[in-house]
Amino acid sequence: RLSVTFGSGSRAVHAVREIDLDVRRGEFVALLGESGSGKSATARALMGLDEGLATITADRLTLGDTDLLAARPEELRRLRGARMSLILQDALSSLNPVLTIGDQIGEVLRVHTRCSRRQAAARAEELLRLVGIPDPIRRLKDYPHQFSGGMRQRILIAMGIAMDPELLIADEPTTALDVTVQAQILELLDRLRRELGMAVLLITHDLGVVAEVADHVVVMYAGRVVENAPADDVFSRPTHPYTMALLESVPQASLRGGRLPAIPGSPPSPAQTPPGCSFNPRCPYAVDLCRTERPLLRTTAPGVLAACHRSEEILHDRVA
Ligand code: SF4
Ligand code: MG
Repeated sequence: RLSVTFGSGSRAVHAVREIDLDVRRGEFVALLGESGSGKSATARALMGLDEGLATITADRLTLGDTDLLAARPEELRRLRGARMSLILQDALSSLNPVLTIGDQIGEVLRVHTRCSRRQAAARAEELLRLVGIPDPIRRLKDYPHQFSGGMRQRILIAMGIAMDPELLIADEPTTALDVTVQAQILELLDRLRRELGMAVLLITHDLGVVAEVADHVVVMYAGRVVENAPADDVFSRPTHPYTMALLESVPQASLRGGRLPAIPGSPPSPAQTPPGCSFNPRCPYAVDLCRTERPLLRTTAPGVLAACHRSEEILHDRVA
């Protein structure tokens, strides 16, 4: 029941509201939603990055056996980058333009271990190889601007996995890249998760991006989880109208050239969510009940959780 609140009193903005999220060892989970749904605030809360900026509450927040809520700031600093790491979208601004790639990867290693320069250089070379950067020995001496966008994203991933973390969180890692490179980066994350056994939490607004790689999909809307289901279920029979709408807005090869249906309206601001179901102003299935009573997350099909008053009815009608 993780909540993240910015500000207080009448000015409080509830970015994340009582969400439950599990990422198991070796699992690939996609956290999906439009911008403003609370995905990034969730990631930052997991990493302990908004300490002092936001109020973070939860019944339980753990990484393996470690209680993150009870961890002191210096413990969290030690964990970050070592046992869990966060990769952001914009590789160019996440990298230091005046340091070589070798020095930047080496810095991650030297912050967390007592390795020598030589050991750091050897590990950096190994990491570049692991993330698929050709000619690593030579490229370690290059600066960020000498790499393409996709290669820079690979370098960030190399830094993220340098300490062999248990959990890698990637916040929109492919948004700035073209479709082919996007697919390559996701394949890379998937391969690393399999080869290194690490858990991946991929944050994205694009359901199309996760189809091939995610085991599990968690959909957020207005700070809450509205659907939580195995990826196969999400793609074959989504049970929440918002997930259905997201799925319909994914470009399909067969529809190429046609117009992409967009979800009408825009998501509510976290400061002002409508009463009842937050999705009701945009939902084609909304009835009176939806405008007064908030639907709770509940089991709507085996292994599937959704927060919608009418899931079963809608699903039944769609199949019929
Ligand atoms: Fe739509 Fe109502 Fe379900 Fe909300 S509860 S998603 S408004 S049908
Ligand atoms: Mg975001």
